[in-house]
Amino acid sequence: MAKVIQLDPHVANLIAAGEVVERPASVAKELVENSIDAGARMITVEIQNGGMTFLRVTDDGCGMVREDAKTAFLRHATSKLRRKEDLEAIGTLGFRGEALAATAAVSKVDLLTRVEGELEGTRLHLEAGKILVCEDAGCPVGTTIIVRDLFYNTPARMKFMKRDSLEGSAVFSAVQKQALAHPEITFRFLKDGEAELQTSGDGELLSAIYAVLGRQAAGEMIPVESQWEKISVRGYVTRPTATRGTRAYQIFYVNQRPVRSKTLTAALEEAYRNQIMVGRFPACVLNLTVPLSSVDVNVHPAKVEVKFLNEREIFDCVHYGVKGALNRASGQVQMQFPPRKAEAAAHTEPMLPQTAAHETVPMQAAPKASEHAAAPKPRTDFFQHRTAEEYRSAAKPERAGKPERPAKAEPMHTVTRWEYEQLAKTLETAPKAEPSKATKEQIFSKTTLHSPVQIPGDADEQQAMDMPETQRFRFVGEVLHTYIIVEQGDEVLLIDKHAAHERINFERLLAQGTQILGQTLLTPRTCRFEQEEAAVLLQNRDLLLSLGFDLDDLGGGDLLLRQIPSDIRESDAESALSEIADHLQNGRVDTAERLRDAALHTIACKAAIKAGYLTDPIELEKLAGQVLSRDDLKYCPHGRPICVVLTRRQLEKQFKRIT
Ligand code: ADP
Ligand code: MG
Repeated sequence: MAKVIQLDPHVANLIAAGEVVERPASVAKELVENSIDAGARMITVEIQNGGMTFLRVTDDGCGMVREDAKTAFLRHATSKLRRKEDLEAIGTLGFRGEALAATAAVSKVDLLTRVEGELEGTRLHLEAGKILVCEDAGCPVGTTIIVRDLFYNTPARMKFMKRDSLEGSAVFSAVQKQALAHPEITFRFLKDGEAELQTSGDGELLSAIYAVLGRQAAGEMIPVESQWEKISVRGYVTRPTATRGTRAYQIFYVNQRPVRSKTLTAALEEAYRNQIMVGRFPACVLNLTVPLSSVDVNVHPAKVEVKFLNEREIFDCVHYGVKGALNRASGQVQMQFPPRKAEAAAHTEPMLPQTAAHETVPMQAAPKASEHAAAPKPRTDFFQHRTAEEYRSAAKPERAGKPERPAKAEPMHTVTRWEYEQLAKTLETAPKAEPSKATKEQIFSKTTLHSPVQIPGDADEQQAMDMPETQRFRFVGEVLHTYIIVEQGDEVLLIDKHAAHERINFERLLAQGTQILGQTLLTPRTCRFEQEEAAVLLQNRDLLLSLGFDLDDLGGGDLLLRQIPSDIRESDAESALSEIADHLQNGRVDTAERLRDAALHTIACKAAIKAGYLTDPIELEKLAGQVLSRDDLKYCPHGRPICVVLTRRQLEKQFKRIT
């Protein structure tokens, strides 16, 4: 008896279905992608019971003629892949003619479709992949696919499904990602009869972000646009003060298809290095455009994880693109006032977790509980159909309900080929990696690398003189022994003197390169540590030496300090070492580089003027001058803002001069 048989097509489809169709969200993703490929301007996704019993995708795309509709459900049926060369596109675009067949194999499907110019459309009904009904039907141009009772004939798969609510949110998130990738298409999402999302489809990414992630998230975004040869990156990233507790809001696309990639995550986060707190993550919506041939096609098409053939270039393009955007963006954090009742309502964030306390700078006592409590369902806000223009004007203070950071349209910056060539030249001639990296950042961020500056110092005077007219300011004074007050134009700026000085120190330390300048102590100093602290410090002597600390073991937890970084006072050395020991023992820093950063934060902090202590007004004025003239002084190394802005309008509103 023959042992080798060809699999029954139905069985083959079931196997394939397991790969493509994992859960309702994957069905939704495939169907929406088909609608996008069909040129739809509007796509509606509707689910019931998390998409398990009912999932409908309606589009106004090109539709299918009857023959095509029937063939579309066969395995390997596709209109998108004709030649061998098209295969290159598989990795990025996921065409392989399998989604409809795979979905139909494990569910009951209804299809309604009509093409322009035909009077009658077609209705198909399929169960377990078999066409049971094929008839004329009246329907609009476009395609509607209803998938019912997913996995009804594959109980094993059914068992893997999570609660309806979880499956439902996975579908929602798949739709949101597509909506952010295609601002030119209007997306609607309905769950159990209730509308949850509508995007404007006006082609502006910021409008899509507004609709999907909410008003607050949109207001916190900075535009990114950068290009290198054939690779370009465009989109938005959050300000360093608006980071999140998870990576869930890092949304990447390659050629408009949602992807996950360690390289992209790393490149993004590297751009925020030393600007945000450990354990906080930037959010982004970034689309990379790359030649199809540079994406590794060996990756499973149904998986969203991508690999690039030229990881380094991709990394650099994203890293320097984002870094440049952060440097160019206005670093001013606006004073936040608690919203009034009605505004609080329009403001609730449906999709994002509550803003962490450190992200806002409250000016008044929090409103009474009763004012907070009545946060209505967020839907209303979600549903507003606004164009980017409307959004921008709404965000302007005159019309905004709440005085918040205006969504300034920053000028886009493209890294030109010339700049990259300059960079390449510098890299070739550069003797060491360190200075070349600095040069690279200089080119990309368009900021001038400063020479080490001390406060007070004569170098600053020159710098203050060089400041353009618009940046002139009046030093008003200091309050609470901590905040410098400065008037500039129509704004009052409050500068945290410690945070500012800390950042300046940190930048100076970074500029020193791998070896931090040390000062030999006239009399070596004996310091007592906990046994483990001393042990971990001794184990990391090389690192400490590079940081400017030279120490010897005296036994029993005692260390003899011979040299300390020249920036810090002798009396601060011991506590600095204690902190560094703490980083070494249980720091959440994973790499040697980050560890070094953390140690430099400590030194920068110890070397900084302290909040709560008296500081010479002349020093304070110089400090303010630096903060206002330098691009790199926006956040302290831990991610706290250095400067907070109070505008004339905000003040006038508080004093009820205007409403
Ligand atoms: P693929 O998208 O890889 O080609 P699918 O199984 O997803 O494979 O779809 C098969 C074919 O059915 C597509 O190539 C397309 O021609 C047609 N099709 C599917 N969905 C739609 C739609 N919404 N509008 C028009 N044509 C569609
Ligand atoms: Mg498809």
